[in-house]
Amino acid sequence: MTTVCPHCGWPDDQPFLVMSKHVTVHGLTVWVRCACGSVQMREIGAAGTRTVSRGRPALGRTGQSCPD
Ligand SMILES: [Zn+2]
Repeated sequence: MTTVCPHCGWPDDQPFLVMSKHVTVHGLTVWVRCACGSVQMREIGAAGTRTVSRGRPALGRTGQSCPD
């Protein structure tokens, strides 16, 4: 049951870049940036890893507009 990034298809279980980790009352909150620039906030607790929120890909990364 591997989930992937809806923007670029990167597997969520292989974080492209872990930006920061914070200990909270819920467990561990991890900020991850995807290969496409989308930032995710994950919560790692007793129940496992949960993706709390996921941002949009970074704009202007290649200096080109979307071909679509
Ligand atoms: Zn992505």
